[in-house]
Amino acid sequence: MRVSLGSNNFSALVLNADFQPLSYFPLSLWPWQSALKAVFLDRVSVLHEYQKVVRSPSMSMKLPSVVALKDFVKPQRAPAFTRFNLFLRDGFCCQYCGRSDELTFDHVIPISQGGLTTWTNVVAACPDCNFKKGSKSIDESKMKLLSVPRQPTNMYLHNKGRKFPPNYLHETWLDFLYWDTELEPHSSG
Ligand SMILES: [Zn+2]
Repeated sequence: MRVSLGSNNFSALVLNADFQPLSYFPLSLWPWQSALKAVFLDRVSVLHEYQKVVRSPSMSMKLPSVVALKDFVKPQRAPAFTRFNLFLRDGFCCQYCGRSDELTFDHVIPISQGGLTTWTNVVAACPDCNFKKGSKSIDESKMKLLSVPRQPTNMYLHNKGRKFPPNYLHETWLDFLYWDTELEPHSSG
């Protein structure tokens, strides 16, 4: 699963006041219009700019490519139990066979046997494994989970998200991202 941002739409990377990205996946980006507005409202500092200049009758300015919030935004204490966060926790892989092309959700303890829709009982599963498991328990199905489903922390999801960089990364973003990953960003203006 990849986020395509096109070749260059002059998005600004948005950092928290501690210079960490607000989010890695999806990467926290604002359209240039929102970034400019935040600059004018004095809500962000501009750390890097594109060469691209926008002009109005009274002024001209370069579009920001990296901005940092002036006020620190506290992350939520526990991540929301959403489909997206669940897939992210499971690395967008079937938790039975590791496939990642098409994903559904599987209740480890089936609903028909009293299983709940919770972090610890729902995993990402490909359609084949989901069908194979059906409404059987994990013992009955003789299938194995690649990992035990747990409630993730924000930090865990944050780190998972770092493994899924978007296709397009502007060179000025790289100082703030992916210290430990080799990347070949597309050329940009
Ligand atoms: Zn599978």
